[in-house]
Amino acid sequence: MTHKVQFLDLRSSYTELRAKIDAAVERTLDSGWYILGSEVAAFETEFAEYCGAKYCVGVANGLDALVLALRALEIGPGDEVLVPSNTYIATWLAVTQVGATIVPVEPDLSTYNLDPDRVREHITSRTRAILPVHLYGLPVDFEPILEIARDFGLSVVDDAAQAHGAAYKGRRIGSIGDVTAWSFYPGKNLGAFGDGGAVTTNSPAVADRIRVLRNYGSRAKYVNEVQGVNSRLDEVQAAILRAKLESLDEWNRRRREVAKLYLGGLADCGVVLPASPVDRSSSWHLFVIRVPERDLLKAELEGAGIQTLIHYPIPPHLQQAYQQMGVSPGSLPISERIHQEVLSLPMGPHLANENVEYVIDTICRLRR
Ligand SMILES: *Cc1c(COP(=O)(O)O)cnc(C)c1O
Repeated sequence: MTHKVQFLDLRSSYTELRAKIDAAVERTLDSGWYILGSEVAAFETEFAEYCGAKYCVGVANGLDALVLALRALEIGPGDEVLVPSNTYIATWLAVTQVGATIVPVEPDLSTYNLDPDRVREHITSRTRAILPVHLYGLPVDFEPILEIARDFGLSVVDDAAQAHGAAYKGRRIGSIGDVTAWSFYPGKNLGAFGDGGAVTTNSPAVADRIRVLRNYGSRAKYVNEVQGVNSRLDEVQAAILRAKLESLDEWNRRRREVAKLYLGGLADCGVVLPASPVDRSSSWHLFVIRVPERDLLKAELEGAGIQTLIHYPIPPHLQQAYQQMGVSPGSLPISERIHQEVLSLPMGPHLANENVEYVIDTICRLRR
């Protein structure tokens, strides 16, 4: 079914910048150099600068960015990592992939983010890191998390796959945690036209280790100092990301405008709206409302031609993939409730005001 209002208009992110993106792709194809060349190097410099971080290392995708961040910190079997119980499964898979133990921490029901007040009680002698996620683009409450990390000598790896351009107390995400992991999956605020990812950090040692790990554990060709992987951001995607990075702030500004319209228009329409704490600037990757009758509302909106999505329908601990962990239904009730009640409304830099108004009017008509 074609929708009257689609969830995300990805094609327009190409057509708006068509000339610039075509030129970037052509320049790269013409260069005759396709892996780890000048485009990746230039993107790393530009994205590090954008984030206010000293270093950026491009990798193949967001999952690898998380995995390589953990590997660079030498986190592995026997180590425990605190992760939010409600997140995209990639956050969990990264911890599993390095052989470490996942310790789920329940979120704050108003921000959907890791609740700093619940972190301390999960720390043991094996805890090595806290892995907060800036879910839906809203930065996590960093200060108390950094304080706990300092008190217990833990590392903070933050999952910023949804938070390009978001800020905490006036400072962009990307250098506040020890290592920040990014995804450039097409639907993210800064998205490639294929897979891509990166880490940013202020630590020269961590940046250097990830640089070596992403390229077969090799610094000099055919000399392998560690058992690395093949996880490189490719030249064509890097060239495209450089072109799109120039529009990120403008596109995020437009997302903020859409969020403001939703927040105003839906204020009295019987839905729980996303929190916007004053000390944080969300990238508004997603605009997520919450209603107990979520599936009904979703169906009704679908009937009105409005495409919505659920982020996410099943929490990681209830996925078949994590059955062996033995976390039974009901044991992470806040996360489970969130997964049953959340609904993501159409959001994006190319969403027209009249479509936002139509979504608002439809929801208010249905809920009042
Ligand atoms: C998209 C996403 C990832 C994974 O990124 P990929 O590039 O698809 O591997 C990780 N964490 C979160 C929160 C995400 O939204």
